[in-house]
Amino acid sequence: MNSGKFESIRKKIEQGDRLNRQDAEALFKWPDILDVGELAHLVRTGLHDDRAYYVVNRHINYSNICVNGCAFCAFGKRPGDPEAFELAVEDIIGKLNEPGSHAITEVHIVGGCHPELPFDYYEEIIRAVKSWRPDVIVKAFTAVEIAHIASREGKSVAWVLERLKDAGLDMLPGGGAEIFAPSVRARICPAKISGDEWLEVMRTAHRLGIKSNATMLFGHLESFHDRIDHLLKLRDLQDETGGFVCFIPLPFLAKKSPLRDIPGPTGVDILRTIAVSRLVLDNIPHIKAYWVMLTVKLAQLALFFGADDFDGTVIEEKIGHMAGAESEEALTREEIEYLITSAGFRPVERNSFFEPLTK
Ligand code: SF4
Repeated sequence: MNSGKFESIRKKIEQGDRLNRQDAEALFKWPDILDVGELAHLVRTGLHDDRAYYVVNRHINYSNICVNGCAFCAFGKRPGDPEAFELAVEDIIGKLNEPGSHAITEVHIVGGCHPELPFDYYEEIIRAVKSWRPDVIVKAFTAVEIAHIASREGKSVAWVLERLKDAGLDMLPGGGAEIFAPSVRARICPAKISGDEWLEVMRTAHRLGIKSNATMLFGHLESFHDRIDHLLKLRDLQDETGGFVCFIPLPFLAKKSPLRDIPGPTGVDILRTIAVSRLVLDNIPHIKAYWVMLTVKLAQLALFFGADDFDGTVIEEKIGHMAGAESEEALTREEIEYLITSAGFRPVERNSFFEPLTK
């Protein structure tokens, strides 16, 4: 790419114009990552100034039993596997009563596509968490789980979402999107719903007033073209619904998966992808530096490459760590604030919808 093309992209960004597919391709190919980061930082600071958000949250995985067997996943286990587990509703409340949970404002609940759990179970989880603390935000079940539950029940996705919303579901977390390209999906997660079906679950959720996040798993078998296509599909849906709160780029962690021969993305590729995401997704307000997958040190750097959110305390994260994440198991509020301030940003505690909270 010649420098004229890069300057035309810079001009578009400065004028607030939308980038197209060719612009995104050029940004993935531009040799100097700092140039791309500078543009993303311009947009990030225009939107959020020096604020870097975080949430005090807890993860709960109700079960890792899953019928899908995705090739990149070290979390899901087949029924009968010695490492398979399933929590009773009382176990979940027991975890919430453990020391340290009093300050959380969000409970993030996801699991595998379980072959047998009845629909009542999912409703009961949500009701139990809401009666534990009515003000806590329940962000639960990926679009993949929602589609699986609907299919098992013989009901529509809308029916499932409406019932779960009545039980107290506040938000969907956004996982399971992986990469939308059908040819890649056929190799890494052939049993999972298609990219179009994932988008349709989100469309339905947003129509019902349930906001969500969105993810992209990158650095495995996909091309830059596939990443751009993924981002543009999210941007199109966001134009239609406005329901995405935050985009979460997830670097592929190969170590403990059947795809362990793939090296995974480099640090430079991760930062560039975060920056391009910030520049292309001009209608999604927040970009997350998910420290669990990035490591805290790369997450700090990502704040200069378009990211404005540090995720949270993430007590008891399992999925990334079972895949070989080298990050801490959890962070305290003080540790997150230190990481943010020492990078030169201003920490702002938020709730799941990015509303600032006063301590
Ligand atoms: S990624 Fe999700 S759907 Fe796929 S095997 Fe793992 S838990 Fe199951």
